[in-house]
Amino acid sequence: MKKQFAVIGLGRFGGSICRALSQQGMEVLAIDLDEDRVNEFASIATHAVIADTTDETVLKNLGIRNFDHVIVAIGDNLQASILTTLMLKELGVKHITVKAQNDYHEKVLNKIGADKVVHPERDMGLRIAHNIVSNSVLDYLELSDEHSIVELMANSKMGGKTLAELDVRAKYGANIVAIKQGEDIIVSPMASQQINKGDILIVIGSDKDINRLERHIL
Ligand code: ADP
Repeated sequence: MKKQFAVIGLGRFGGSICRALSQQGMEVLAIDLDEDRVNEFASIATHAVIADTTDETVLKNLGIRNFDHVIVAIGDNLQASILTTLMLKELGVKHITVKAQNDYHEKVLNKIGADKVVHPERDMGLRIAHNIVSNSVLDYLELSDEHSIVELMANSKMGGKTLAELDVRAKYGANIVAIKQGEDIIVSPMASQQINKGDILIVIGSDKDINRLERHIL
């Protein structure tokens, strides 16, 4: 059976999730207070309904507990976002993802049991900042407060060298866990692996070490 998703709040974030899930052939219920937004998604989602999700009866009538995954993408109204999440949790929804507006909001969402809290503006800002500092940084993923994974494009200085010659682990404390060479991906590369200019290196390490690596060898 197809997985069933519900997206609450059809702003830029919720709307884009709703579109992407629908394009992937998923069953999606799109929900918003705003009639115009709901009309916009009527032809995109499987169903689109006007509803205020801070009303428990409304959530029950929508049969929200039967959905596999509910995404709460209510924007600035923190109270509505928190209340909706709390009720989804109480109704026994299996998986809840919520968009947080700020750190305080994120803390509350984690406390009330949101399964995943996302912070799209902050995360995208972080990625773009790393890309601005070094053009070689293609992507950046925070693993924890102190550790990250970064995708770096090998430059001409690195091209032609082996991993042993680059010696990133000893010099920077970071580990190259995979290398993308065109269509191929080499997982756990050996020290003798040669790097070519344009290869994409996937590096894991502490933020301190990764920042040093970004600044120095690139
Ligand atoms: P974004 O930053 O993702 O663009 P917006 O603030 O534009 O976010 O969108 C949030 C959406 O959530 C709006 O369309 C708004 O109508 C909807 N929304 C706000 N409160 C509720 C609620 N209680 N129930 C359902 N939808 C809501």
